[in-house]
Amino acid sequence: MGIAIPFDNSYARLPKDFHAHVPPKPVAAPRTVKVNRDLAAELGIDAAALESSEGAGVLSGAAAAPGSEPIALVYAGHQFGQFVPRLGDGRALLLGEVVDRSGTRRDIQLKGSGITPYSRQGDGLAALGPVLREYLVSEAMHALGVPTTRSLAIVTTGESVYRETELPRAVLTRVAASHIRVGTFQYFAARDDMDSLRALADHAIARHQPDAVSEPDRYRRFLEGVARRQADLIARWMLLGFVHGVMNTDNMAVSGETIDYGPCAFLDAYDPATVFSSIDRGGRYAYGNQPAIGQWNLARLAECLLPLLSDKEAEAMEQATGALSLYADAFNTAYQAGFLDKIGLSGGGEEDKAVAEDLLRRMQANGADFTATFRALSMVADGGDTSTVSSGFRDPAVFDEWAETWRQRWASGRASPAERADAMRRVNPAFVPRNQRVEEVIAAAVGNDDFAPFEAFLSVLTQPYADQPDAARWADPGPAAPYRTFCGT
Ligand code: AMP
Ligand code: MG
Repeated sequence: MGIAIPFDNSYARLPKDFHAHVPPKPVAAPRTVKVNRDLAAELGIDAAALESSEGAGVLSGAAAAPGSEPIALVYAGHQFGQFVPRLGDGRALLLGEVVDRSGTRRDIQLKGSGITPYSRQGDGLAALGPVLREYLVSEAMHALGVPTTRSLAIVTTGESVYRETELPRAVLTRVAASHIRVGTFQYFAARDDMDSLRALADHAIARHQPDAVSEPDRYRRFLEGVARRQADLIARWMLLGFVHGVMNTDNMAVSGETIDYGPCAFLDAYDPATVFSSIDRGGRYAYGNQPAIGQWNLARLAECLLPLLSDKEAEAMEQATGALSLYADAFNTAYQAGFLDKIGLSGGGEEDKAVAEDLLRRMQANGADFTATFRALSMVADGGDTSTVSSGFRDPAVFDEWAETWRQRWASGRASPAERADAMRRVNPAFVPRNQRVEEVIAAAVGNDDFAPFEAFLSVLTQPYADQPDAARWADPGPAAPYRTFCGT
């Protein structure tokens, strides 16, 4: 029995400037330590085959599966605002694509599989810690209902990588709707390669907006589609307190999926200025800046697409500007409606919006935890004691005062308290991958080869909106210590 993955590789069929073929590289002792069985089933791949030694060979990049055409993809990107004309997959390899059970084409990619022509000074490798982190956080995001790349498997290699210290090496298998980034368009646009730019746009449209494929205005529709997807995505991040941490244009996928879990984290205490990445000194990618940065990145995509939008400059500009304001409108609508859902007010009037904003101001002034506050608020909506929320405020009276106004606004809605609380629980998770807990499970796996805490946390995170009384410790914000993640992932 061999490993059978039903590959159909459309990106590899694009012109040769789009990618570089990379042959398999031997690996010392590949061992599959995790397979996402549900995802494997979705993709029509036999999980047991991935768990076999042959599977470990394929998932470590040491052996090629039949039908796989491993390629590293080229792209450019603005990194912290600086344009880099050529980045590309420096430590990733697209094995190929499969059409999943629901008919969607998905990329299967290795991350940490060794050097490629785009590795620059990097070693092309990944350490086990960041691989576990991406697996946990991306799967948590999926369970939270956020569009995201998924994690299919983790393989350790029996080798070391060298960062500040010597660390065990691992390879992550990532699944994505595609790996086409804003930076992929920037690569061809910066080279004035119009044929490639058009081929890329047509490929992206076929994958992400098949309805528009034969429309004469398909490039405008595509740009607007990216705008809508990105607005929806970033609104979801904001509503869950997620900080991506490195929203460079090469880390913004045109599919609208969250991609590249590096220095990401969830807010503990609510503060829009929160930054986790140690290298983001200016706070460019702070929590509260994400909506604006999304629009900045979108503007970079729009610039690339100008020559495809229209031969008349003014007309192309008008379409581009239209897409940017569409982004702003779509974001504001989704964000405001989402916040009202979080506090159980669905009227949508100006007064309700003011109540939501007032809560955020009070939370910020009082160091209130983002996830815990909103989850506990659902309890209060159902007749629970306000102290479950107010005890998280430095001055509990600040919350109690707000709760008075909040209750008065209930009268404008039609829901019963139980219905309101239920609806709130469906949008306010009890469990998010808090950094302190993520670090704890990584330490056990990396330090003691003990994957039990990782498995336990992962299982809690797959039902983030359910009350799981036995899992309370995973929800604990812990002591509020400033937390930093590092880009050297
Ligand atoms: P990231 O910050 O992970 O989005 O990566 C930015 C760029 O650096 C991408 O082109 C990556 O492929 C590349 N890169 C990151 N880490 C490594 C590494 N260890 N070896 C080679 N390239 C890397
Ligand atoms: Mg990246």
